[in-house]
Amino acid sequence: MKETESTQFEVHDREVLEKARAIMGQTESPRAWAQAVIDAVKRNEEWRGERCINLLAPEAPTSPMVRALLSSEIGTRAAEGNIGRVNRWFAGTQHIDEVEALCVELLKVAFRCNYADHRLMGSMLGNMTVYHALTQPGDVIMSAPQPFGGHSSNRYDGPAGTRGLKIFDVPFNMDELEVDLDAFAKAARQHKPKLVVMGMSMTLFPLPVREMSQIISEWGGQFIFDGAHQAGLIAGGQFQDPLKEGAVILTGSAGKTFSGPQSGMILWDDPALTKPITDTIFPALAATHQVNRVAALAVSAAEMIEFGKFYMAQIVKNSKALAKALDERGIPVLCVDKGYTQSHQVIARVKQFGGGLEVAHRLAKANIITNKNLVPEDKPEDWDRPSGLRIGTIEVTRLGMNEKDMETIADFIARVLVKNEDVESVGREVIDFRYPQQTLYYNFDHGYPAWAKM
Ligand SMILES: *Cc1c(COP(=O)(O)O)cnc(C)c1O
Repeated sequence: MKETESTQFEVHDREVLEKARAIMGQTESPRAWAQAVIDAVKRNEEWRGERCINLLAPEAPTSPMVRALLSSEIGTRAAEGNIGRVNRWFAGTQHIDEVEALCVELLKVAFRCNYADHRLMGSMLGNMTVYHALTQPGDVIMSAPQPFGGHSSNRYDGPAGTRGLKIFDVPFNMDELEVDLDAFAKAARQHKPKLVVMGMSMTLFPLPVREMSQIISEWGGQFIFDGAHQAGLIAGGQFQDPLKEGAVILTGSAGKTFSGPQSGMILWDDPALTKPITDTIFPALAATHQVNRVAALAVSAAEMIEFGKFYMAQIVKNSKALAKALDERGIPVLCVDKGYTQSHQVIARVKQFGGGLEVAHRLAKANIITNKNLVPEDKPEDWDRPSGLRIGTIEVTRLGMNEKDMETIADFIARVLVKNEDVESVGREVIDFRYPQQTLYYNFDHGYPAWAKM
């Protein structure tokens, strides 16, 4: 081993980095190094893009129109600041202004709200915006802990922590992923949080936004809905509508259920919030904000307005059907008594099959992609090897699949987990099932799948 390898601090997997160095060591040609990058991208496209059943809950395949815009010329242009001739530093931005203004107005229509911002590179930064705009270091907030589905952005290790906030847990009931409203009322009245931020990466059912907002309004506390996962379901009218139920801000990822380019959105109604929010976005968190991505986001918002209701409803139908089919095949899932799920997710308890880490990797060998997940009974020491598996139906739905296909997918999963069949032979059948289905629906290129013709 070279000395640098043994002494240099490294967060990345050393073996994987070593492999990259080995590839680069085979030639001195930068052109060949570039080709190695292109080859890896191609391998991913051929495997994940064409042959796998991708059931990762935070992923969505973008439409051909959106993908084309992501590589458009406008993405090479600099356009920081607010929209408009005087607001911009640079001249020549009139067409960029048109694109950005359309994006803002389309997002407002998609989410039925008064204000939207399009410049965030991720939902992480949307949450950072909230903390910067509405809190001071030392303030108290309450948020959902990770084993119940909470996300790091609202905890000590994320933007809330970097803002120097004091964070208390929103209490949950143990088995059903439900906020324990009585315990919440008690804890909230004691801590009097300035903000309650609910951001659920594991999400099955709507949250009691109205009830929680009412409690914290006693001392002027504000409710923030981090809808990273649910943004598309909310826009499509298939979940709750947090801004109508008492949340003052809705943040969201554009690349999860919303099915647009990976990035962030922030939405609100109260004009008094506009200055603190937008002053944080620019000039604190975004300068050049990738106008190609903004154009792609604008088109995704138009797709959501046109197709969102049906598309999102089918996502929910598919996750209910998949959960039921898994349950029937001996794979325990959460919230059976409540009808499994009202979102794009299904959560399975897979401890008996080897735990989330082991199961996710075994399924990946059969070309079925999922992720390990904490479930309520997991302890802090279970973090790397939790006992849950999170399964999402966004991509299979956009590929035109319906409830019948979910039974086929559940069969594949059960053959690997319950019947212990050889992963490679199941994997070959997965490819036979998946490969003929390459068209993405619910967009202006391909409309609705044939079975859905209305
Ligand atoms: C995914 C997620 C985020 C981060 O979103 P990005 O768009 O990836 O930055 C924030 N909050 C929650 C609850 C999430 O699930």
